[in-house]
Formats: sequence, C-alpha cells, structure tokens
Amino acid sequence: METTFLIFSFIFGLVIGSFLNVCIYRIPREESIAYPPSHCTNCGYRLRWYDLIPVISYTLLKGRCRSCGQKFQLFILLLRLLQLFYLEYCF
Ligand SMILES: [Zn+2]
Repeated sequence: METTFLIFSFIFGLVIGSFLNVCIYRIPREESIAYPPSHCTNCGYRLRWYDLIPVISYTLLKGRCRSCGQKFQLFILLLRLLQLFYLEYCF
C-alpha cells in the first residue's frame, strides 16, 4: 500500500513539476501556458507525447532536442528534481 502511494505521489510530482516548468518559462514572456504546445525554443520542433515523459525522455534524448540537437538547459532538469523532492516531502 505504501509503495503504491509512493509511486503515485512520484508520478504526481513529475506531472506537477512539468506543468510548473511551463508556467515558469512562459508567464514571464507573456505567452499562453496552453498554446502553442510544448516545443523546442531553438528550432520550434513540436514535442511529441513520447518526448514529454518527465525524466525518461530527457535521459533517452540525453537532454537534447530530437530535431536540432540543441541541448536543453540543465537548470530545467535540476528544477524538476527539486520540485519532485519538495512535493514528495509534502505528501
Ligand atoms: Zn530543436
């Protein structure tokens, strides 16, 4: 039971962390948080669903855009991990 709860809170933390990253990046730039869909800020490549699996996609793509190879900023990964640990601590 406790393991199931930990797994769900881990996934919940990743989803919330990803959403907060979108807010942190787009709101200061006065962009919509809903449109356009997630994309590479360098080449505009629209990220597919399999590019958006938190941590797993980042690791498989080695932190780079699938289209242009531009490296995603490391602070995004660090921020996501920080949010995850914070949310895990809260629950
Ligand atoms: Zn790109």
